[in-house]
Amino acid sequence: MSIFGTVKVKNGQYRIKGDFHHVTPNTPIRNEDDGWKLMGVTNPRSMTYMHSYGGEAPFFESMSQGKILGTRCDDPDCRFKGTSYIPFRIHCPDCLTRNTIVDFTDICKNTAKVHTFMVCERSGAFNTLEKPIKFINVEFDGIDTILMSYLSIGEPKIGMRVVPIFRTVNPTYTITDLSWVKEGVPEEDLPEGFTYG
Ligand SMILES: [Zn+2]
Repeated sequence: MSIFGTVKVKNGQYRIKGDFHHVTPNTPIRNEDDGWKLMGVTNPRSMTYMHSYGGEAPFFESMSQGKILGTRCDDPDCRFKGTSYIPFRIHCPDCLTRNTIVDFTDICKNTAKVHTFMVCERSGAFNTLEKPIKFINVEFDGIDTILMSYLSIGEPKIGMRVVPIFRTVNPTYTITDLSWVKEGVPEEDLPEGFTYG
C-alpha cells in the first residue's frame, strides 16, 4: 500500500499530497453448505478523511501541550454572560456571539470530580481505547458544562477526585489525548506517552 495522504494549508488553501483512497481487490462470499454458491462480495476499502477542526483547533492543540482550553461568554448584553464551557464551544448558545478562549487547566487540575460514569466492555469500529473503557463525565468548579472523557487509572466512583493527564508524547490531536487518573498516581505509572503536562 502506498503512503497515506497528508495535508497542509498554505496561502489559505489545502495542499494535499499522497493517496487518499486505496481500492483493494474484493473477494467472493460463498456458501459452504450449498455448493459454494455465490452470495456476495467483500469490499475492502481504506481512505483518509480530512477532518477540519475550524474554530476548535486551539482546544486540540492545547491538550498536546498539557493544557485544557475552554471558552466563556463575555458579551455584556448576554443574559448568561460569564457562562463557561468545557468542552470548548466556539459560540455562546444563548447570544450567539463568539466566546472568549480561556485556559482552564488549573481549575481542571484542582477541582475535577466524577459526575457520573459508565464502563463499556465493547466499543465501536476504530476505537483505540483499552477495554473495558471507563467513560467518565467530569464536573469542575465554576464551569457550567460537564466533559465526557475516560479514566485511565482507578475505579470510577461518583464524586471521586480525578486529575487530567495528557498525551504530550506523539499526540494524536484528538480527544483521546486527554484522559484522567485518580489522585496520587506517580507520573512514571501513567500510560505510555502520557504526562501530567
Ligand atoms: Zn452569551
